[in-house]
Amino acid sequence: MALISCNVCLVGGGIMSATLAMLLHQLDPALQITMVEQLDDVALESSDALNNAGTGHAGYCELNYTPSDAHGDIQIQRALDINAAFETSLQLWSSLSQQGILEVGSFIQRVPHLSAVWGARDGAFLKKRYQLLKAHPLFASMEWTDQSHTLQAWMPLMMAGRPSNHSMSATRVLHGADVNFGALTRQLIAYLRQQPNFQLLTHTKVVSLKQSQLKQATQWQIKVKQQTSGQTDTLHTSFVFLGAGGGALPLLQQSNIPEAQGYGGFPVSGQWLICNRPDLIAQHHAKVYSQAAVGAPPMSVPHLDTRLIQGKTALLFGPYAGFTTRFLKQGSRFDFAKSVKLKNIKSLIGVGKHHLDLTKYLIKEVFQTHEQRMHALRQFLPDANAQDWQLAQAGQRVQVIKRGQGQWGKLEFGTEIITSQDGSLAALLGASPGASVSVKVMLDVLQRCFPSQMQSAQWQHTLKTLIPSYGESLIDDAALLQRVRQHTLNTLNLAA
Ligand SMILES: Cc1cc2nc3c(=O)[nH]c(=O)nc-3n(C[C@H](O)[C@H](O)[C@H](O)COP(=O)(O)OP(=O)(O)OC[C@H]3O[C@@H](n4cnc5c(N)ncnc54)[C@H](O)[C@@H]3O)c2cc1C
Repeated sequence: MALISCNVCLVGGGIMSATLAMLLHQLDPALQITMVEQLDDVALESSDALNNAGTGHAGYCELNYTPSDAHGDIQIQRALDINAAFETSLQLWSSLSQQGILEVGSFIQRVPHLSAVWGARDGAFLKKRYQLLKAHPLFASMEWTDQSHTLQAWMPLMMAGRPSNHSMSATRVLHGADVNFGALTRQLIAYLRQQPNFQLLTHTKVVSLKQSQLKQATQWQIKVKQQTSGQTDTLHTSFVFLGAGGGALPLLQQSNIPEAQGYGGFPVSGQWLICNRPDLIAQHHAKVYSQAAVGAPPMSVPHLDTRLIQGKTALLFGPYAGFTTRFLKQGSRFDFAKSVKLKNIKSLIGVGKHHLDLTKYLIKEVFQTHEQRMHALRQFLPDANAQDWQLAQAGQRVQVIKRGQGQWGKLEFGTEIITSQDGSLAALLGASPGASVSVKVMLDVLQRCFPSQMQSAQWQHTLKTLIPSYGESLIDDAALLQRVRQHTLNTLNLAA
């Protein structure tokens, strides 16, 4: 392998690195970009279609994005923020489709987003949530019902075998999206590979990185190892993005930047039940989310999902969260142990002490039998038969552990960008709401690491062309929202 020198090095070939690479290429085609991926191909970890739920998270159906506060009042700000962030993604994907870079029908499809709940308490919550959200232009098209004939029309498979007096209600947004983030990643990278200033190194693992001074400029020296030959080499770059999914934390620790101190990771595995009966699959066309079980972490909110993967329709239920010590699906069982350092041990102990219930919950989940998993599914499908559903492994999530008050750690369920003070390194930790908001998250990386270029007239113009709402608020400006949404729904074939 030749010695490589580039302007930008992206570690990992998932949706995050692919999005950042595409934005940087559009903003400055002269930038020399190298992407390093340890596996045979890109998008084989969390971004691969069956490793995630493919929900275009917009706050339409995910009840955990509208939590109740200490007074029992429902807070909708997080749902508004996530919805606006997803609209940002839709705008970029729409512009890239119009440039002929993305092929619409192969990575995004319209699948209605529903929330369904049972019983009086959750029913009252859902109705209140609906009233609050519906009043905002972002959620104006949301519908609510507790009428069994409407529920029957919205989700016939879920209503089969349910007593007619069963207390149930639901909300629906017709223009929800199912996104194949694997296909999207592959299309972004396929286009970049045709460009002279982009190179992809697959089967190549980043094993270490360190900062050095070269002719008064700060450089990163990145040691890479060819997985088949074992040959190592060094890559020089002025900016590095650790978009390595679960593999980002160990690399961040290697970088030795002070901003990384105290961070740790709490890995959580995922599993689906996948339906093998075409006649059942054909009867359901929606993503239906409900409430998480008491004590369950937010990433195990159950949902019954229509998925469209490579032209085939599938029906998935889950995810079942579980205990693991691996940071990547194809990682090592020593990943967690290796991430324990003097600088984060206090954070890890703090989380261990305060989240013992979560650890117990996850261990219990791992040892569930097929019949116990079917029990959870029968809340959604009372008539479900065990032989019609098979277990499959989903991707890994590594939840962020960071220093809280008194240096003890706290567990975060969101996404965190960590940047070095000089802006020469950025890392992405965490996984929620994840791929759906990849564009907004990567714009934040650009803002923090390329602040002067982001102010330049040329970059501002390109950003406005790619993302028409860039620099303005879709939450506060209803007219802008209407214009933007109408355009993206039409170009991405999401209009109901
Ligand atoms: C069960 C589950 C359900 C989910 N559901 C949704 C959903 O419905 N909607 C949504 O928006 N998001 C969802 N997510 C989150 C989403 O999948 C992630 O946010 C997203 O895929 C992360 O992309 P990434 O590029 O950061 O990581 P990845 O796709 O994991 O890519 C990281 C890449 O880095 C490579 N790598 C790691 N270490 C190294 C190294 N040292 N050298 C070289 N390469 C390296 C890996 O091989 C991998 O290819 C879900 C996640 C899970 C696990």
